[in-house]
Amino acid sequence: MNFNEKAYELGSKRSVIREIFEYSKKRASEIGADKVYDFSLGNPSVEPPKEVTETLINLLNKENPTALHGYTSAQGDANCRDKIAKDLNKKYGASFSANNIYFTCGAAASLSITLKALVTSSEEECIAIAPFFTEYRVFASNAGAKLVVVNPTPKTFQVDLEDFKNKITKNTKAVIINSPNNPSGVVYTEETIKNIAKILNEKQEEYGKSIYLVTDEPYRELMYGEEKYPFITNYYDNSVVCYSFSKSLSLPGERIGYIAVNPKAEYANELYLAVCGAGRALGYVCAPSLFQRIVTENLDAKVNLEAYKTNRDLIYNGLTEIGYECVKPDGAFYLFVKALEDDAFKFFEKAKKHELLVVPCDDFGVKGYVRIAYCVSKERIINSLPEFKKLFDEYNK
Ligand code: PLP
Repeated sequence: MNFNEKAYELGSKRSVIREIFEYSKKRASEIGADKVYDFSLGNPSVEPPKEVTETLINLLNKENPTALHGYTSAQGDANCRDKIAKDLNKKYGASFSANNIYFTCGAAASLSITLKALVTSSEEECIAIAPFFTEYRVFASNAGAKLVVVNPTPKTFQVDLEDFKNKITKNTKAVIINSPNNPSGVVYTEETIKNIAKILNEKQEEYGKSIYLVTDEPYRELMYGEEKYPFITNYYDNSVVCYSFSKSLSLPGERIGYIAVNPKAEYANELYLAVCGAGRALGYVCAPSLFQRIVTENLDAKVNLEAYKTNRDLIYNGLTEIGYECVKPDGAFYLFVKALEDDAFKFFEKAKKHELLVVPCDDFGVKGYVRIAYCVSKERIINSLPEFKKLFDEYNK
């Protein structure tokens, strides 16, 4: 066998989430899907907004199919990119133009491309803030950088700013933040964002170099409180937004998102060209053209957030009433729960005996916690609670 070793390793080892999801399918075929309480996967449980489906049907019925399904420019259709830029400017007071926007196949591609565009040598480091989406390790490694992990603050799961400051070195090239966060559901406050920006500005000054803030924002619209989303380009110049419509419009299988390069970044035009080049090198050109059209005709469409909020309240209240320690999630559709023993994998195995499938979070950079993806039916949550109670009682006999 003479293949790329890293690629072989990645391909032969499934992520813990996928592993559990596969087990869930097998178990459902044995005992029935309604008896398996699968909380493993962040697959939206609400349908895309009606307007999205209507746009899809209209476009298919009315437009010239050759043009509709044809290639767009590598970075995406100019008119669609213009719509994204104008929408961001209107919603967040930003100053994007079409030439700051690059359409991608979702947030995963946005991040891979951005890191590939930024990283110049294997000495360079990307910082991730725990807990973080497990694939950051893969994206950083593929870009050739080392991943450095910053601790969260206990209980609130905001950023430990002291640790953040200490982890930035002369080799730091990029910092990835994700809010609303997978797996904690925590939304970083405006104060946290301002502090991150302040520290980065000081460190840029100290080391005389640019440090880029890369925001991973697939859950930007999935927030349950009143507070406004602190849009990063308003707080820090050297920033790149990695967005996806996977969760905001419930379109994860359609693979559509974008990168928005802050026009206020140093050498913003050159950075955008590097993004275009990285997209080209990785083969991420011309994101699905039909969905470039659909999402840009539905930039104000919203999924049924109330359904997620109901689920959030049911699972959070249900588990805390039993006695579980949970981080209150203000966004996304995940609940971060303290395992009832130090080893989250052992806890996972015990939960599995009750058909409760939760994800141990060691790979997310935090030990002793599990993630519950509550983007499931309300019934699954209600029916699972007695099992969570039995599990809790088992530990507290
Ligand atoms: N980033 C985070 C934090 C996620 O949770 C996910 C998917 O669950 C992704 C990126 C990848 O998103 P996409 O499906 O748009 O590639």
